[in-house]
Amino acid sequence: MDFRFGLGYDSHRLAEGLPLVLGGVNIPSDRGCVAHSDGDAVIHALCDALLGAASLQDIGTHFPDTDPQYKNMDSTILLGKTVELLEQKQWHVNHVDLTIVLEKPKLSAYKSLMQSTLAEIMHVSPDRVSVKAKTNEKMGFVGRGEGVVVMAAATLIQK
Ligand code: MG
Repeated sequence: MDFRFGLGYDSHRLAEGLPLVLGGVNIPSDRGCVAHSDGDAVIHALCDALLGAASLQDIGTHFPDTDPQYKNMDSTILLGKTVELLEQKQWHVNHVDLTIVLEKPKLSAYKSLMQSTLAEIMHVSPDRVSVKAKTNEKMGFVGRGEGVVVMAAATLIQK
């Protein structure tokens, strides 16, 4: 059995009047992500962690933001396509761990829905998906509510 580890990172600017979608979940907020796709920074960081673990480059290589077919794309579709790429190489998700850094709104009420949503797309049980959320203690661009940052770690197994 082979085993791999990957890291992912994503950040997006926030602007008033845009939808906020994180981990495949719509979150009520007065501001949302500025992006070519739906701006789901959780899924983007997760895809990079998964692709990194499989040494399959990065999300921008597979789904370029200059390609009109990805405009306003639901990022859950990108995650599904990423999992397909892994499965073509016989890689399966073992566990993922996500940290979302966002000043507001508080995400505690949405973490379990993100967990089950992401688990279903990755064909794993929810206990293999960890979602953590924190603020940046009012420091820097995250602290001023100008952006969101997500860090992701993933382990894959090949049976
Ligand atoms: Mg992104």
